[in-house]
Amino acid sequence: MQPSHRHFRVRPIIVPANAEAEIVIEPLHGHVRLDPAVSYEVRGYPCEEFAQRTGWPERPLASATVVDGSMRVRCWFEGEQEHVLLVERLEGERRVTVADIRVYSLEPDLLARRPYKGDLHIHTNRSDGRESPAYVAGRAREIGLDFQAITDHRRYEPSLEAIAAYEGVEIDLRLFPGEEVHPPRNPIHIINFGGSFSVNALFQDADAYAAAVRQVADELPEPPAGVDPYQYASSTWCFRKIREAGGLGIFCHPYWFTDHRYTPSGALTSHLFRERPFDAYEVIGGYHLHEADSNTLQVARYHDERAEGRTHPIVGVSDAHGCDRNELFGWYYTIVFAADGGLPGLIDAVKGLYSTAVEALPGQVARAFGPFRLVKYSLFLMREYFPRLDELCAEEGRLMLAHAAGDASAAQALARLSGRTSRLSAELIRR
Ligand SMILES: [Zn+2]
Ligand SMILES: [Zn+2]
Repeated sequence: MQPSHRHFRVRPIIVPANAEAEIVIEPLHGHVRLDPAVSYEVRGYPCEEFAQRTGWPERPLASATVVDGSMRVRCWFEGEQEHVLLVERLEGERRVTVADIRVYSLEPDLLARRPYKGDLHIHTNRSDGRESPAYVAGRAREIGLDFQAITDHRRYEPSLEAIAAYEGVEIDLRLFPGEEVHPPRNPIHIINFGGSFSVNALFQDADAYAAAVRQVADELPEPPAGVDPYQYASSTWCFRKIREAGGLGIFCHPYWFTDHRYTPSGALTSHLFRERPFDAYEVIGGYHLHEADSNTLQVARYHDERAEGRTHPIVGVSDAHGCDRNELFGWYYTIVFAADGGLPGLIDAVKGLYSTAVEALPGQVARAFGPFRLVKYSLFLMREYFPRLDELCAEEGRLMLAHAAGDASAAQALARLSGRTSRLSAELIRR
């Protein structure tokens, strides 16, 4: 975060593009005092575009008034980009920088959406993870997530268990159903995010499943040489079922190196990319540090696909198998730009290409992947917006964990905090 955003309360920091907006800059902690008797000038620097209307760049662009110790700056924000507002105090010939404020202006489609952070692929001890579903959910809020689906291997019930653990408790983390789907005799891994029924459960009736896949295989054109027709038909059937359940079908970690090779086969992966039976692609998967090549390949593949005219919807996921193992948990997530934080809104936004995948490895600068426009905005959000919300989420997460551990007073405390992140978001983003 820009130090000035710690020393001043700045509202809003996200404004409409190609319009004038008023930014209120209020000193915090008494580091700086704004004095109505002193002359200030505010220069606005659009970081990317040369300003057409306001002129570039060496003249005061904004009008500033100090009332009751706070500064109100009116400025025209051109285009979709970040702006530096440099607040200077005039002392004769000298100019002293008082604050370096950052504001982002957005086109209407993005301004109408709120950014939500989430993890769409994570495990608990109900499969091969370490902790209980309720615990994993509490930890998710503690690290600032807005939504999560628990997606255990072959099991849908753990995701429902997490939801049930907070039944009747006012939490602002959205918990959705989910599972990692492993079709029989097919090495592909698929996430059913948010689907209203389990696809894994459908494999129990082996004859019905086999007949259904045969029917899909008969409908589909013959896949190219090297692609196993059963694997292709089975994968397609799973993605169709997830869609039928109202979920988002995610093609998981195609460049996972296991058993001395990538899984699934390159031929099947390429065919799936061409035909796209899936709804979203794990462009950033939950890989350990020694597996970083797999994410590098997935990102390279994403760009090649786009160059060939196929822009796939993307997600970034932790695939963590434990929150307290100091790996994977919190390293990777998705930012979804959605009209609301409900399941249909989030799914529509991902399918509509309004998402980025984030890699935030410990000790390294976080990086976002996806379309340029959204990456640019995500970097601003990760620096100036999310840290503010994360502070509130951490407190809620600790109370969720207390509730899950049997503290009867935690639910009441959570009810008092409910709605706080939405209110802060509404203060920071001016629609
Ligand atoms: Zn997997
Ligand atoms: Zn997994």
